[in-house]
Amino acid sequence: MTDSVVLRPQAVLVDRSLECGLSVEVYDGEIVHIGETSDRPDCGILSPAFVNAHSHLEYRGMAESLPGGDYTRFIREITQLKRGQSPESVQEDCRRAAHENRAAGVGYLAEHSDRPYSGQAMAEAGLEGVLFQEVLTVAEGGGVEQKLLECERRLDSQREVFKGATGWALHAPYTVDAEVFRRFARRGDPISVHVAESLAERDLFEHGTGPIADFLVSVGAPLPRHSQGPVAWLSELGVLGKGVQCVHVCAVNNADIEMISAAHASVAHCPSSNVFLACPVAPVKRLLDAGVTVGLGLDSAASGGAIDMFKEMRACLQQSDERKEPITSAQVWFMATTGGAESLGLGDWRIEVGSKVPMILIEHPGASSLDDLIARGVPQDVKWL
Ligand SMILES: [Zn+2]
Repeated sequence: MTDSVVLRPQAVLVDRSLECGLSVEVYDGEIVHIGETSDRPDCGILSPAFVNAHSHLEYRGMAESLPGGDYTRFIREITQLKRGQSPESVQEDCRRAAHENRAAGVGYLAEHSDRPYSGQAMAEAGLEGVLFQEVLTVAEGGGVEQKLLECERRLDSQREVFKGATGWALHAPYTVDAEVFRRFARRGDPISVHVAESLAERDLFEHGTGPIADFLVSVGAPLPRHSQGPVAWLSELGVLGKGVQCVHVCAVNNADIEMISAAHASVAHCPSSNVFLACPVAPVKRLLDAGVTVGLGLDSAASGGAIDMFKEMRACLQQSDERKEPITSAQVWFMATTGGAESLGLGDWRIEVGSKVPMILIEHPGASSLDDLIARGVPQDVKWL
């Protein structure tokens, strides 16, 4: 028989605020009571576990291997590096990154897997999440149907060990054929798509120019075009909708934000990666103000750096300040936890009676406010409950 545990944390993250003087009783993994207490706290700050809303575990070994500052050069070089990797080294990178996520307090991961090893790594590390199989069909060689069969096979092989939700990472509006987008949109499975990450992507769609357009011309691929940009293009293909996660959403205007909001699609914001690749700063405040559910993603170690949600929250706050559209510490913590979960379709990732949310304790001496915690927190401060 399992005994209940009563925690008296220094503070508890209840929804979007840090509340003191609460005790939380947990029985068999479920929160059964939350009450007021005047007893001395006996542990640190209690929060729902972090949600990493955008991840590529398999690129862990490429940390500090690739140049920043130029999005299209980065994509070219990472594609080259991938070709030289052995399956064993990719498996090991996935394992390492999955364990680092877990140790950093991440309990739920939106994983984007090209090679078929992330599912096993997540299962071994005890990470729940959504496993999105990456799909690229433009200029891939071998034919579209062949490529799609291979993607299905890769995901099926991971379902044997990974028992969580699965979906499709339709890589980007310029690397997946329009007909393939339409086909996956009709299936109704969860979809994730990198969209409007760079100005080059916008130039391609609106003007048919720029480095992505040059690359597509060089490989004989047709140029996808839309006078209102890639978000409008996805909308017309029927892709935007509930259960669709738009990743990055950097080079967007208010009309794009309105389209994403009206479609009830969600957004994964990856500020460290965006800075590294010199992409425009995503308009997070305007997305939140428009009612879009936004999660915070670490992206891959190749562009996002260390697996550290505190660092990512700091980057998010700093970029929103630089845009002169600041968001608050409470908003960014929500994005890193409950909001990230909601962006992936999970409705109960919060500390409330009846919830079975995985929880973390953050022990950082002297940190009593969310501002403090984000400014000074490091992954080593996190303990799993
Ligand atoms: Zn990505």
